[in-house]
Amino acid sequence: MSKAAGFIPPGATLGVLGGGQLGRMFAQAAQSAGYGVAVLEADEAAPAAQVTGIHLAARYDDPLALEQLARDCAAVTVEFENIPAQSMHWLESRVPLAPSPQAVAVCQDRAQEKALFQRLGVPCAPCAVLTAGSDPDAAGADLFPGILKTARLGYDGKGQVTVQTAADLPAAWAALGGVDCVLEKKLDLAFELSLVMARGRDGSAVQFAPQQNLHRDGILFASFSPGPSITPEIAQAAQSAASTVAQGLGYVGVLCVEFFVLRDGRLLANEIAPRPHNSGHHTIDSCNVSQFELQWRTLVQAPLLVPRQHSATAMLNLLGDLWFDAAGRQREPDWAAVLAQPGAHLHLYGKHEPRKGRKMGHLTCTAASPVEARQTALHACAVLGMEPF
Ligand code: ADP
Ligand code: MG
Repeated sequence: MSKAAGFIPPGATLGVLGGGQLGRMFAQAAQSAGYGVAVLEADEAAPAAQVTGIHLAARYDDPLALEQLARDCAAVTVEFENIPAQSMHWLESRVPLAPSPQAVAVCQDRAQEKALFQRLGVPCAPCAVLTAGSDPDAAGADLFPGILKTARLGYDGKGQVTVQTAADLPAAWAALGGVDCVLEKKLDLAFELSLVMARGRDGSAVQFAPQQNLHRDGILFASFSPGPSITPEIAQAAQSAASTVAQGLGYVGVLCVEFFVLRDGRLLANEIAPRPHNSGHHTIDSCNVSQFELQWRTLVQAPLLVPRQHSATAMLNLLGDLWFDAAGRQREPDWAAVLAQPGAHLHLYGKHEPRKGRKMGHLTCTAASPVEARQTALHACAVLGMEPF
């Protein structure tokens, strides 16, 4: 990298690859400390493009846009993992970039993620990797019923199919286009949790407490912090596994590790996000430092604040479904009633077109106790017409 290493003072411009809600919240956090933000994102109306000073409306592999980003930014980060490796390598040679292309490459690919967990001794689901030429009949009988997941580009449960028996595997694989896949044993989950942490260039690291996550249809529905089922032992195991992963990757930036807890009490790592995570959005309203502030702190090489949570929270994702009534007619959710709830913090991402399953925003309910936070979230569910949890 040609630019000087070391602390980057406010006034400098930080770049972000990707213009979704994560880029938007990163930009808002960095701007509040006086940094400029440039976003590379093809969509003119994207959430982050609306709030950044410099919007480069181009593809992630556009040479001129990458050139401008490298020239104008003191450091660059990513808001999602599917940035082409070539773009990241090119940028890395010209401007401080965090996380590294190597770390992102691992998180882009479920097969590499699983190999990393296994190499580091972090327990994960039993699995087999299917690549072109693999014999699907060779998958062990103990992996069924299983979940076949595309190795790359899956998110929010997309690119996944359940496979009941070994005999169903060839058809399931064909249905996913025969691309590289990971077949995972379908596990008997007691609950899910995730842990967000940050690690600086100097190796210093800080962690948030893990939050408990509830998924519906493969999409995060709600997160609870503190999580009602997370014992101190489980929290400790998650913290230690996440540290091992961050160190093993030589990671710089914010990352999130998703975990499963099985009915027999075992904790298994599921996947790694090389960026802030939907389940960590509550930190904006519940902690002395948010996951997005830690993201810019790692980028500018400022000291990492140790997170301290001052409020219990229940966070609800607000999907596009809420913008439609039972007859399928579009409507505006009753924000006045939501906002009338004490402790309800509304975050909308500026997406103009609601679609079913699309993440339009989130609502963080803060309170003095987990029980009260849950009550507020349940009330919000009733107001918004969401199934209670
Ligand atoms: P995504 O990238 O879509 O988040 P995940 O691998 O995290 O993909 O899967 C999405 C959700 O599907 C998980 O949060 C969990 O609820 C469920 N799931 C995934 N893998 C398994 C498994 N092996 N056994 C049981 N449930 C699973
Ligand atoms: Mg996931």
